[in-house]
Amino acid sequence: MEIAPGVHAVRLLSVFAFLIAEPRMTLIDTGLIGSRRRVERYVQGIGRSMDEIGQIICTHAHPDHIGAVRELAGDREVEVLMHPADLAGLSVRLRDAVANRNRGQLIAYFTRHPGEATPIEDGQVLPMLGGLEVVHTPGHTPGSVCLYARHHKLLFSGDVLQVIRRRVTFASTVFSDDMALARASVARMAALDVKTIAFSHYPPLREGANEVLRDLAARA
Ligand SMILES: [Zn+2]
Repeated sequence: MEIAPGVHAVRLLSVFAFLIAEPRMTLIDTGLIGSRRRVERYVQGIGRSMDEIGQIICTHAHPDHIGAVRELAGDREVEVLMHPADLAGLSVRLRDAVANRNRGQLIAYFTRHPGEATPIEDGQVLPMLGGLEVVHTPGHTPGSVCLYARHHKLLFSGDVLQVIRRRVTFASTVFSDDMALARASVARMAALDVKTIAFSHYPPLREGANEVLRDLAARA
């Protein structure tokens, strides 16, 4: 499904990945382990080849977002970009996760490590879509980022937002590391001029995005 010119939402198991179909293609998130076939089918469906994927940007290091990084990047020259706070969090020992009774660390333990990744940071502008801005929105995970394509007024929100009963709301209390921080991060999104929100787990929102984000930020 094309959600903006050259930007495709690729439906995987329980999550959308996004394919930016420029000459050198970019994938935002990868889905769970085993998602390669589905991504491949989509890529072929639009007449492109997997070899044309040059980079994978990870919104955060949860298994439904980065599980398939290795099988997609694999032995090829695919650059993986991720906030260092999440990459660091993946190297956790089971013993420590259990001892700390930390749900985030347990999730991290069961997440397939993506291997090497290039760190991205708040305010960085990546070259895709005429400028894709990294907005660090910690809380769901320490290294959660949103990605903002200013020319398209398109915001990839990762898991910083949920949609429950058709209402946009804060990140999941069950799967988030620090809810107060996650709520506060919505202010960062509300400061942007957004026409379309591309959620990771729900269809995109195309109407009233600015109002929705500002209302939510006011409730943080
Ligand atoms: Zn998540």
